[in-house]
Amino acid sequence: MASLFALLIGLAIGSFLNVLIVRIPKGENIAFPPSHCPQCNTPLKWWHNIPLLSWLLLRGQCAYCQKPISKRYPIIELLTGLIFWVLAIKLGLSAEWLITGLIFALLLALSVIDFEYYAVPDSLNFTALGLALLMPLFNMGWAWATDTLHDFSIYQEALLTNFKDAGIMALSFFLLALLVKFVIKKDALGEADIIIAGTMGALLGLPLVLFAIYVSALLALIPALVARNHMVPFVPFLALGTWIVYIFSDTFLRWWDMLYA
Ligand SMILES: [Zn+2]
Repeated sequence: MASLFALLIGLAIGSFLNVLIVRIPKGENIAFPPSHCPQCNTPLKWWHNIPLLSWLLLRGQCAYCQKPISKRYPIIELLTGLIFWVLAIKLGLSAEWLITGLIFALLLALSVIDFEYYAVPDSLNFTALGLALLMPLFNMGWAWATDTLHDFSIYQEALLTNFKDAGIMALSFFLLALLVKFVIKKDALGEADIIIAGTMGALLGLPLVLFAIYVSALLALIPALVARNHMVPFVPFLALGTWIVYIFSDTFLRWWDMLYA
């Protein structure tokens, strides 16, 4: 029951994510005008807007002009649904589940936008960073609301740790960006990557974030070698690396303990 609820919430958020992905890079208002067909501009009825289901029932075509609707819409909805579903299994329905889900949904949106434009909007990037930094406050609010708030200091400590880990990662990436620029005379790492490194630091913490950077670099190596002279967007790989390490955090922490026990 709980996981079905999580899946439905995820699908709905995925639907909104599609709006952000299409409108924010173009500098359009995200609330107005209401949803319309990108081809014929006809405003959509609410039943054309049901995540996943509408696309299937309309067989991937606009109800008015019959032009194909991009498969990207249902895919983003499904992926967001799965993100919230898997996180509900790991975390249970809680403030941490919701905020973590929103962070990964934002990372998904940033990945898609980076893939298409080779640049990502600061607004979404900083929102993800802010949510990751302030996670302990949401957790504290949840504990208070569910009457399980006993020790105030653990949230205070977690908040300090988040800012410290985010700062360390952002600074490391900033220095790395300078080094890369100096060595290969190209801006391979941008400002966006530095912000995401901060988000990863706050979300995963040390030492897990180190695994995530390593996994991301490893994943990015393959297309970088294939594409050679073409630009490879790095954000999707950072997002995927973060997801893998977050979901399998217990395994990675065990490896860390084996190395340093
Ligand atoms: Zn249309």
